[in-house]
Amino acid sequence: MTSAVLPTYNRSPLTFVRGEGAWLVEADGRRFLDLGAGIAVNALGHANPALVAALTAQAGRLWHVSNLYRIEEQERLARRLVDATFADTVFFTNSGTEAAELAIKMVRRHWVARGDPDRIEILAFEGAFHGRSTGAIAAAGGAKLAAGFGPLMPGFRHLPWGDEAALKAALSDRTAAVMVEPVQGEGGIRPLPDAFLRGLRAACDATGALLVLDEVQCGMGRTGRLFAHEWAGIRPDIMMVAKGIGGGFPLGALLATAAASAAMTAGSHGSTYGGNPLACAVGLAVMDIVADEGFLAEVRRKAGLFRQRLEGLVAAHPGVFEAVRGQGLMLGLKCRRPNTDVVAAGHAEGVLTVLGGDNVVRLLPPLTIADDEIAEGVARLDRAAGRLAAAAA
Ligand SMILES: *Cc1c(COP(=O)(O)O)cnc(C)c1O
Repeated sequence: MTSAVLPTYNRSPLTFVRGEGAWLVEADGRRFLDLGAGIAVNALGHANPALVAALTAQAGRLWHVSNLYRIEEQERLARRLVDATFADTVFFTNSGTEAAELAIKMVRRHWVARGDPDRIEILAFEGAFHGRSTGAIAAAGGAKLAAGFGPLMPGFRHLPWGDEAALKAALSDRTAAVMVEPVQGEGGIRPLPDAFLRGLRAACDATGALLVLDEVQCGMGRTGRLFAHEWAGIRPDIMMVAKGIGGGFPLGALLATAAASAAMTAGSHGSTYGGNPLACAVGLAVMDIVADEGFLAEVRRKAGLFRQRLEGLVAAHPGVFEAVRGQGLMLGLKCRRPNTDVVAAGHAEGVLTVLGGDNVVRLLPPLTIADDEIAEGVARLDRAAGRLAAAAA
């Protein structure tokens, strides 16, 4: 039967009916090891008991009141995020895209309030992804994202990814902000070197441009720090968060310093659902687990193990894979064969991965994945690669 759903996705013919930790169960009973985690969303695995308890307890108490009132869970989650980061203030959204929209609005209003309304140019990088709204596709600038949706919102300029000379040439005291993912996700798991991020921070300080980091995919413990920019020892002015922060419940956030957000006064922005009690109750439970140095140390240890095994996988299948890249449990296999074939072969072997740009297969497992599940995942990828090599021979 044809689907009644708008066909904007090339969906795999798999229907999952249940999840348990790092595993998903298909309608026919097959068990898949989930190395995609709903695109870096199910950071604590499927049906995590702590999250189920937080959601169900809140569901029996209060779902929604709107932001016309103070929301206790929202206040507590904002305080947790502020205490754990550079930020002084938080606005909650339902998605990463909405956080990106607010980031753009905040930057523009900042310069208007400073008496410099023409200072609107935001520098961004090729291969970026900030969401699918008209503002977010203009910000990312990729032809595939934007084709057919013009005219695009003006005010963005795109630089070659990680190009220091291009950044130096483009960044001036007319630049409103620089928007960048510390580790590109959709673009193909491309981490920016720490030195680049430190240079970017210094250049923004020198010109007054705001530094906006998109940590929707690389944040919330994914790289082994609560936020990826911590590796470089820098602090942004504004940061987008989503995906992992809700552990599978729709939740996003925009974090900012007092200085960067000062122009966002009452009435300047809003959201009906953003920061509702259900989402924030889950977000608090996620923060309780992830914003813990012991948990993050475990992510780093497991990431080292996973990476080491993936290096072995690449070495064993040089005709299929070219290299491993990434940071923490945000890893990418740069492929020699089409990445679509690698993902499909994984399905045949019961392992789920995610396509990325630059012919990369993304590995974004739950941060709670066990050592033996990492070994099992690599064994399944090894069999998948063997299938491709056999088919080619
Ligand atoms: C997924 C993603 C977004 C968009 O988030 P949605 O929740 O899909 O709106 C924005 N930026 C990055 C880096 C992402 O990975």
